[in-house]
Amino acid sequence: MPELPEVESLKNYLSGQVIGRTITSFNSTWPKAIGSHSLSDFTEIINQQVISDIKRHGKYLVLQLLSGQNLLIHLRLTGHLDFTLNSTTPLRYTRHTFGVDNEFEMRLRDVRKFATISLTENPMDMLKNIGKDPLNTLFTTAYLEELLGNHDIPIKSFLLNQSIIAGIGNIYSDEILFASKIHPSTPSSSIPKTMVKILHKTMKTILINATESLTTQIFRDQEQPEWNASSPSFVVPRKAGLPCPQCKKPIEKITLGGRSAYFCAPCQPINESAHC
Ligand SMILES: [Zn+2]
Repeated sequence: MPELPEVESLKNYLSGQVIGRTITSFNSTWPKAIGSHSLSDFTEIINQQVISDIKRHGKYLVLQLLSGQNLLIHLRLTGHLDFTLNSTTPLRYTRHTFGVDNEFEMRLRDVRKFATISLTENPMDMLKNIGKDPLNTLFTTAYLEELLGNHDIPIKSFLLNQSIIAGIGNIYSDEILFASKIHPSTPSSSIPKTMVKILHKTMKTILINATESLTTQIFRDQEQPEWNASSPSFVVPRKAGLPCPQCKKPIEKITLGGRSAYFCAPCQPINESAHC
């Protein structure tokens, strides 16, 4: 599932391709993905609209249109966006096709059909239940400390909860906790101030570095940049029993809130006085 760095790199990729261009058609074989409008209304509203900018909030991609409308795309589990000449053959599972300048197409492929598309004049209304983006400058150490203090849930669940923080998923939460040396079941409100500072810095560093690595991969082939949703190499092995990259002890797996957490017990000791 694409997380913040994947969607940020997609934003970087698409920005160079579509900003300033006009949407000239729209076709969908899965109109249920459009949450805000009927297919005919959606097609009519976006037709001949110029894409003026692209933003990201958490895992949402927001294409701003010159008319003041905003196209919100969430790739969910298996969504993938391609930008290509319209003369190329669409790949399998292409569900939605935005014609661009009568020459290109932005194609949304989606095996599982969970990706969503919405059109709105007020994106923040639609995103009001989504937490602050960790790369937002307003996401300070003090803000994180306040958030942590307001929630008494395992830190792994805290990081994954999109209504608290936007954009972090299963993989990056494990990476962030490993690098911060925090056990995934540590209650969020019990994390001491010194650790909050480390967690805040680590979170930003990991997300920024992953975005840079992914963006570099996209533009490695300057002739034909292509967004690849596959992630950069991760530090924490995603299989129990494999050696920890630091101490070589076996990686453990636990389930918290229905999600798997991979961690190293010696490197991420639990605070016995404060476990859930
Ligand atoms: Zn270890």
